[in-house]
Amino acid sequence: MAENVPYYHPVGKEIEVFTHAYQNRLPILLKGPTGSGKSRFIESMACQLNKKLLTISCHEETSSTDLIGRFIIKGAETVWLDGPLTIAIKEGYLIYLDEIAEARPDVIVAIHPLTDHRRELFIDKLGETFKAHEDFMLVASFNPGYQRGFKELKPSTRQRFVAMTFNYPNAKIETEILINESKVEPEMAKKLVALGIKIRNLSELGLTETVSTRLLVDAGKLIQSGLSKRLAVKVAVVEPLTDDPQILSALNDLTDLMI
Ligand code: ADP
Repeated sequence: MAENVPYYHPVGKEIEVFTHAYQNRLPILLKGPTGSGKSRFIESMACQLNKKLLTISCHEETSSTDLIGRFIIKGAETVWLDGPLTIAIKEGYLIYLDEIAEARPDVIVAIHPLTDHRRELFIDKLGETFKAHEDFMLVASFNPGYQRGFKELKPSTRQRFVAMTFNYPNAKIETEILINESKVEPEMAKKLVALGIKIRNLSELGLTETVSTRLLVDAGKLIQSGLSKRLAVKVAVVEPLTDDPQILSALNDLTDLMI
């Protein structure tokens, strides 16, 4: 196994599923809220498989050109420059398209032939089709977001992937993650996790995104580096969640009570 595998604590059967999907070179879609460990999982799996990983954070301007490549002018010549997806299919890397639903529709069109038995990429600007290296694998993530403003993925696209849901881990596992990631004392880790769970259950607050494991880890890190614990929670957990003065004040009160 490769050295320095990034720490990832399994939450369900995701390692088993990924291993089999990789053996069959099936593309994978990781569904779940932000900060739930999707990226860390892929980093860890790529490292365990000893494969290079290219990560692209998709946003609304991400186009197929950004992934596939473009002609650039070099001196008096125009030369073709492979994009990350083309590099990954040629070299046999894993590519992780984070938040794929955010990307422009031409990205989805471009990856379709890579997600079925063809495993190929057509580059219209070169008029060539490239077969993917046998080690190549496509992984994408998607935040199903039950709130307004989140983009959907078309069923015809979703059905091209093996899909797994990532949720926040249970209290025991999340406490272990906090201890490992932030080196915070176990007692404090437990308190942070309890606060996280409490806020997640306060659905009446109507938060667009709730407390992620990432936010709790950040709070743990600030505490570990010497920031007072309540201030750490306020700036790492409460403030990132909302700008609404009433909700801020309610969450700060809750923090004072639980931390
Ligand atoms: P996502 O990609 O879902 O937005 P990340 O993978 O970036 O989330 O996770 C955010 C942080 O939370 C990581 O940097 C890590 O510190 C922590 N984390 C979340 N889940 C796990 C897990 N299962 N094992 C280890 N660390 C985790």
